[in-house]
Amino acid sequence: MGQRLNHFINGLASEASEGGRVELVNPVTEQVYGSFARGTVEDVDRAVNAAFEQLERGEWSRFDGAQRARVLLKLADLVERDSELLADMDADAIGRSPLEPRRMDLPNVLANLRAAAGWANQLEGRTIPSGGYFGTRTLSYTVREPVGVVGAIVPWNSPLMITVWKLAALLAAGCTVVIKPSEETPQSALHLAVLAQEAGFPDGVINVVTGYGNEVGRALCEHPHIAKISFTGSPEAGREIQRTAGVLFKHVALELGGKSPQIVFDDASFEDALRGCSLGLFANQGQICAAGSRILVQRGIADRFAAALAEAARAVKVGDPRQPGVQMGPVAKKAQWERVNRYIQLGIDEGATLLAGGVSSPEQGWFVRPTIFADARNDMAIARDEIFGPVGTIIPFDDEADAVALANDSAYGLAATVWTADLVRAHRVAAAVKAGAVGINCWSPLDANLPWGGVKTSGIGREGGFGGALAYTEEKVITVLLPH
Ligand code: NAD
Repeated sequence: MGQRLNHFINGLASEASEGGRVELVNPVTEQVYGSFARGTVEDVDRAVNAAFEQLERGEWSRFDGAQRARVLLKLADLVERDSELLADMDADAIGRSPLEPRRMDLPNVLANLRAAAGWANQLEGRTIPSGGYFGTRTLSYTVREPVGVVGAIVPWNSPLMITVWKLAALLAAGCTVVIKPSEETPQSALHLAVLAQEAGFPDGVINVVTGYGNEVGRALCEHPHIAKISFTGSPEAGREIQRTAGVLFKHVALELGGKSPQIVFDDASFEDALRGCSLGLFANQGQICAAGSRILVQRGIADRFAAALAEAARAVKVGDPRQPGVQMGPVAKKAQWERVNRYIQLGIDEGATLLAGGVSSPEQGWFVRPTIFADARNDMAIARDEIFGPVGTIIPFDDEADAVALANDSAYGLAATVWTADLVRAHRVAAAVKAGAVGINCWSPLDANLPWGGVKTSGIGREGGFGGALAYTEEKVITVLLPH
C-alpha cells in the first residue's frame, strides 16, 4: 500500500531483519499512505559495520580533498535536479506548505553541499615549534583525520536540511555515516542516499537505517564502532544520548530546542518587527527550533504590537497546504497536536490574555489555530517551555536591562532577535544575550557559512561553516627526531 521504504545499507535497499514495518500517516487526512522498515539492533549493526569497513578498507579515505569536493559538488547538482521532489517529500510528510522548503530549506541544502566542497580541501594541519627531545631537535606537525563513523540522528521539522548540515560537514572531513531519520520523515534521507550513490560516493559511506528512536537511535548511540553522535532533537533524548556517549567516550554534538526571545524596542520599525515576529512564530507551524516564541515588547508599544500580531495571526489561512492560498497546514503528528493544545489551555489557566486562536477542537487533520497570548509573565509555562507550535507569548518590559534579564531568564539559549533602530544598543544587547545566534533586525538568518547551535538546554557544539567540518576531525600530532 502506497510508499514502501526500506533501509539503505552498503549501497543496497534492504528490509528490516525481523520484517517489521512502521506506518506513515498523513497529518492532513490522518490516512496511512505508506510504511518504512522498522530497524533493529541487527540492522544498525549491519549499517555501522558497512560504514566502519568502508573506512578501514580505505576506498573512501583515499579520496583526497579535491576528490571529495568533486563528489560533493556532483551531489549538489543532483539535489538541485530533484529539489522540488525533495522539498515536497519533506513538506507532505508533515503537512507543511511545500513553498517553505522550496524557498528556505533547499537553497540552504545546496549552499551547504557546495560550501562543504570548499572545506574538504582546507582541513590543514599545523607545524608547531617544539622544545626538542632530551636535547635533540624535533619537528612536530599535526594532521586532521576523520573522526570515524558518525551516527547522525535527525528530527522531522526540516529533515533534509538538518541531515545535510551534518552530512556535508562530515563528508568534507572524510567520515562515513549512518543516518537515522525521524519516524515521520524518512523519505528525503533515503532519496539523498540514492543520489549520493549516483554522484560517485562509494558504497558504505552513506547508510540510512529507519525506525524508532528508542530502538534504532539507541542502538546507534551504543554501537562500539560509532565515534561521534550528531543529534538534533529534543532535550529529553539529547540528555539520554549524552549519558550514553559519556559512558562510552564518544564525541557528541547536540542541537536541541529553544524558547527564543524576540526583543522589540519602542524605536524599532513597527512593520519590520511585526513581519519578523510573524515569520518567527508561524513558519512551519511554529515547529522550528529557533522559533521566536517569546516576544518581549517595550511597554509603551506592547498593547499596539500585541493587537497587530493577533490580527496577523487571525489572517493566516489554515488548511490543506496543497490548496491555493493556504498558508498554514496542520502540526506534524497527533502527539504534537495534543501538546500544543495542552499548552494553550495552560496559558489560559495561568491568566495570560488570549488575543487570537485558542484550543482547537478535534476534526480531521491535526490543525491548530495560530495563537497569541498577551500580558504574559516570564514564569508562566507558555513562556518557559518549548511548545513547538504556532503559539506566541507576549511579555512587556520596561527598559534595556529588564529586556536582557527577561531574555536570559530561560533554560534555553538557542537564538534571539533584537528589533531596534539604535544600532549601538543592538550590539550591546546582542553581546549581553546568552544565545548561540543573535539576529539584529532579522529573524534567524540561515547561511551555510555561519555556525549554528545553542547554549544551556539548547545544546552543545556547533554545526555549519568551516568549524562545523573541523568538528568531524581529530587532530593528530606527529613528532620526528632530527639528530645532527
Ligand atoms: P525527538 O528528540 O523526539 O527525536 C529526534 C530524533 O531522535 C528522531 O529521529 C528520534 O527517533 C530520535 N530519538 C528519540 N529518542 C531517542 C533516543 N533515546 N536515542 C536516540 N535517538 C532518539 O525530537 P523531535 O520531536 O523529532 O524534534 C523536535 C525537537 O527537535 C524540538 O525540541 C526542536 O527544538 C528540536 N530541534 C532542534 C534543532 C536545532 O538545530 N537546535 C533543529 C530542529 C529541531
